[in-house]
Parts: sequence; structure tokens; C-alpha cells
Amino acid sequence: MTGRLAGKVALITGGSRGQGEAAARRFVEEGAQVVLADILDDEGKRLADSLGDAARYIHLDVTDEAAWVDAVAETERDLGKLDVLVNNAGILRFGALVDLSVDALRQVLDINLIGTFLGMKTAAKALTRAAGDAATSSIINVSSVEGIRGSAYLTAYTASKFGVTGITKVAAMELGPRVRVNSIHPGGVATPMLEEQGVAEASAAHISKKVALKRQGTAEDIAHLTVFLASDESSYCTGAEFVIDGGATAHAGF
Ligand code: NAD
Repeated sequence: MTGRLAGKVALITGGSRGQGEAAARRFVEEGAQVVLADILDDEGKRLADSLGDAARYIHLDVTDEAAWVDAVAETERDLGKLDVLVNNAGILRFGALVDLSVDALRQVLDINLIGTFLGMKTAAKALTRAAGDAATSSIINVSSVEGIRGSAYLTAYTASKFGVTGITKVAAMELGPRVRVNSIHPGGVATPMLEEQGVAEASAAHISKKVALKRQGTAEDIAHLTVFLASDESSYCTGAEFVIDGGATAHAGF
């Protein structure tokens, strides 16, 4: 098998659709074996089937520590190792700070932040085992532009994504030199996440006016960056924030 990820084994959370799906497609094209982990079982199984022998689906709720232990063990048992972890699963909820309930805040933190923490905690030993002298393993944590700037009506999401940005740097220090850990920070990307919140059209129109590149991102745009960070081409990148937002954070926002 040839390709930029030839021989690598990757686990992608939230892999059933959206950016996780696009990353899975690119990873397989580049020669990786991919485990798609999600709670959307039908979509995940269909996608894995369509990708052939290089992909498989497992049910994994990222907030469930015991399920994480099983997922990592199953990956090592069936595929021999784990080289790449993409902590991509996440949810978005809008609401004014003054109306936000603690339960609603906790739900977002639980999936976006605790889920990412559990992934790193549980996979760290397997990723360390998989790293060789010539190649390092890689964790890619999907944060957001809301992990480096605040957005009105996104208290819970912004808190969770700043948390992801922070624990990425801590993990990079603790897991180096064998495991690299980086965060990616997409701007507005056309995926079911925005559709489900009923803001897809408004968001696309707003972003197309505001950002330097005058369009929303695509899941494929983000997947190219994910491939780079999963591959040995990013061998000297760790603890870093990779912004991919069409220029959204380049302007002062007035
Ligand atoms: P999406 O809703 O299409 O995909 C998210 C996936 O995560 C879904 O398949 C969903 O089932 C899964 N998921 C949710 N809760 C889960 C849980 N508890 N356990 C396992 N899987 C779970 O959205 P997307 O845009 O592809 O989002 C992917 C990541 O990118 C998220 O972390 C999101 O916060 C981030 N992001 C998205 C945008 C955007 O504009 N779309 C921008 C910046 C960052």
C-alpha cells in the first residue's frame, strides 16, 4: 500500500459523518486503516462498508471511559496497533449566557472536552507503543475558532473548545517525544452540525461576506490538514494550534 499514511492505523471519533467522514475518506485514500467511532451506528456502518476492507465501524460514546478502553483494546487486537487518534466528535449548542443551564453547559463540556480528554488518556499507551524510532504517533484534537476567540451565544461550546486547546498543549508536553499532539481550529464548515442547529444558510451567507476567502469551509478542506498532521510530514509539529478558517480570525471583527 502506498500513500502518505501507508501502514498507519487511525481511530476517528465522530467518524460517521461531516468532518470525521471526510477525514476517514482521505485517510483510506492515503493508505491508512481506519476505525470509525460514533454513536450514529447506521451511518457509520454504511460509510465503513463503502470504504471497503480498510475501514471498520465501532459504537463509541466518547463520554464513556469503559467504552474507550474497549475501543482501544479492540483496535490493537484486530489491527495490531494504533498510530493516530483524531478526537473529532463534538456538539454545538447556541444560547445566551444568562439563559444557559448548568446541565446544558455540562452536556457540551462532557462530549467536547471530557470526550477528548478520555480519548487521549485511554489511547496514550497504545500510541506510545506504536511509535518507532523513525516515526511518531499523532493525536489530532478538533477544537475550533471558538477555541482561540469567543463567540456570542456560544458559552458552552467556547468553554469546551478553549479546554481542548489547553489540554492539547499539556498532552504534547507529557506524551512527547513519541506522541505528537496538536489542535486544529476550523472556522465555519458546511456539515450536518450547522444544519441541525438551523443556522446552515445564515452561517454560509455571513461567512461568505466576512472571511478573506469569501466562502464557507468544506469538510474536505479540513481533511487535508488532518492528513498532514496524521502523517510523518508533520514530524516536528506538536502542541500547536492549526487554524483553518478562510481568514476568519485574521480580522479584528469590528
Ligand atoms: P457533525 O455533527 O456532522 O459531526 C459530529 C459527529 O460527532 C457526529 O457524527 C456525531 O454523531 C458525533 N458525536 C456527537 N456526540 C458524540 C458522542 N457522545 N460520542 C461519539 N460521537 C459523537 O459536525 P462536524 O462539523 O463534522 O464536527 C466535527 C468536529 O468539528 C466537532 O468537534 C466540531 O465541534 C468541530 N468543528 C466544526 C465546525 C463547523 O463549522 N462545522 C467548526 C469548527 C469546529
